[in-house]
Amino acid sequence: MHEWSVADAVIRTVINWVDDKKIKVKKVVLGVPSFSFLDVEILKEAFNIMKRDSVLDEAELEVKFKDLRFKCKNCGKEFSLNDVKDQIDSVRSEFGEEYPMHFMPALAPSFIKCPYCGSHDIALESQDMTIDEIQVEENGTVKTVSQG
Ligand SMILES: [Zn+2]
Repeated sequence: MHEWSVADAVIRTVINWVDDKKIKVKKVVLGVPSFSFLDVEILKEAFNIMKRDSVLDEAELEVKFKDLRFKCKNCGKEFSLNDVKDQIDSVRSEFGEEYPMHFMPALAPSFIKCPYCGSHDIALESQDMTIDEIQVEENGTVKTVSQG
């Protein structure tokens, strides 16, 4: 499953970053694109099994969903899914709950137009998963490290 490779990647990344066995990782905050097909429960389960006997032994995984972002190729402005909520709502009322974008975010440009200039020439911004925050304990002190 996809969730297991994500958990594996997160754990490897954090272990590489820590690179010091005196540190204990307490918490990892993962930013996930809102339209990804990840099952958070499976992801956490995978994380909890794969973290054993590593610096992440006591770590808790927190998942935060990030809003989709688009960029208009015509006027260059960026906007989020929230900025075109009215358009999404009308697509949704036309197709019902199972509207196509739910399955294929790449289709979004066919349904959405730029809220600034009305162009349909829009691109989906890259939606990478990011480790937003790592909470570690070092010599009994807990500190939070933000990853940009
Ligand atoms: Zn535009």
